Amino acid sequence: MDIEVLIDEAIKAREKAYVPYSNFKVGAAALFEDGKIYSGCNIENASFGATNCAERTAIFNAVAKGNRVLKAIAVIGDTNNFTAPCGICRQVIAEFAENPEIKVIIVKNHKEYIVKTLDEILPGSFTKKDLEV
Ligand SMILES: [Zn+2]
Repeated sequence: MDIEVLIDEAIKAREKAYVPYSNFKVGAAALFEDGKIYSGCNIENASFGATNCAERTAIFNAVAKGNRVLKAIAVIGDTNNFTAPCGICRQVIAEFAENPEIKVIIVKNHKEYIVKTLDEILPGSFTKKDLEV
């Protein structure tokens, strides 16, 4: 997997963000089992609770095209800081992650990024295995 390509796609996706309320653009790019990268941006709503994050937009985009296995994801905000996935997105990443060791790339810019595993950012996650009786 080429992390630089994933970062570039996340940066491109960020430009599509619909953020009339926060003006805080976020882009994400997710690599799935079909080998393709699916991107997403945050999409706000006048009813703030209806807002969708970039990571979930990317993942839902891939799932809607038949994918189920997430291999890596990169996320970048519109700030001079590292932007990490929110709690809801971490849970959605866990739902589709190939395993707890997939890479979550938290990006500040082209040259500065942090690579974490899903297990590092969401230890002890609740998954479909917890629903088994
Ligand atoms: Zn989120």
